[in-house]
Amino acid sequence: MSSTRPPADSDASGTIDTVTVDGLGLANTLRDEMKAEIEALVAAGHRAPHLTVVLVGDDPASKSYIKGKQRACARIGADSSEHILPSATSEEDLLSLLDKLNNDDRVDGILVQLPLPKHISAEAVAEAIDPAKDADALHPLNFGRLLLGNAKLISCTPLGVMAVLKHHGIEISGRHAVVIGRSNIVGKPVSILLQQQNATVTMCHSRTQDLPGVCRGADILVAAVGSPQMVKADWIKPGAAVMDVGVTEVDGKLVGDVDFAAAQGVASIITPSRRGIGPMTITMLLRNTLNAYVARKELGSA
Ligand code: NAP
Repeated sequence: MSSTRPPADSDASGTIDTVTVDGLGLANTLRDEMKAEIEALVAAGHRAPHLTVVLVGDDPASKSYIKGKQRACARIGADSSEHILPSATSEEDLLSLLDKLNNDDRVDGILVQLPLPKHISAEAVAEAIDPAKDADALHPLNFGRLLLGNAKLISCTPLGVMAVLKHHGIEISGRHAVVIGRSNIVGKPVSILLQQQNATVTMCHSRTQDLPGVCRGADILVAAVGSPQMVKADWIKPGAAVMDVGVTEVDGKLVGDVDFAAAQGVASIITPSRRGIGPMTITMLLRNTLNAYVARKELGSA
């Protein structure tokens, strides 16, 4: 097992000065870069990229996520639109809308907000989105390409995690990364990305035995479960980089999977549950939309 890099910011007594990731600050820097790219495209006479978000049902949290995505698009000069369908919408009607969006040359990125009502198959929806416009990269073609190491579009939250690690200069190659959670949207893709950057990756899930012990071996710990404060301080190897993806609303507050307060002085770096991975996820959605637009333009289809 690899050893964790000695924490750069530990004092003489060995106490670690934990860095809290400013996910919003990094997201804003990356959004400014995209804004400049889009301004250059528009100045050259091209249209702006366009993200469309589809929501089935009237879940208030999902509606607020959609508003956040629209504001983020506006901030970088991208176009956005929304399709809010009643919760009783049939799978057939949803697939027919996706077919129209696939064939609309002015739409570059399509995101179907999850979760979907139970009567609609998430697999059928993922397969119905044109892989070239698949803003959260859930189509099997994009997933397969990710596995093969030649992905064009990659799921947004894993991309956000990798961007945070890169920005903070966290060494990945040869390190032991532990990922808790194996969902298609977070756990699996982030495990693949870490492994492609030469980490030795352990994927954990609800049947993992001695989860605290496995986590204690992690130089990089990614928690993507949705279980508030499940990861305790003594699960964290001193000096580890902790990426807390989990977000659960508890008494009106967003709480991560990691006991953030207790991790202070143990982790070398940690993402907070607010202004951590969340803004980076939206930023990567914008990046995927812009990349999809540029790729389609190069193919002459945008
Ligand atoms: P998910 O599909 O529900 O998957 C949860 C995973 O956690 C599953 O693989 C499950 O294992 C595992 N798990 C459940 N209980 C466990 C336990 N006690 N010990 C170990 N593993 C356990 O969730 P998701 O969509 O990946 O999302 C995970 C969390 O990230 C949620 O809080 C979500 O809100 C958050 N999230 C945040 C962002 C963001 O932008 N910040 C984006 C996406 C998701 P099994 O496979 O064995 O069931």
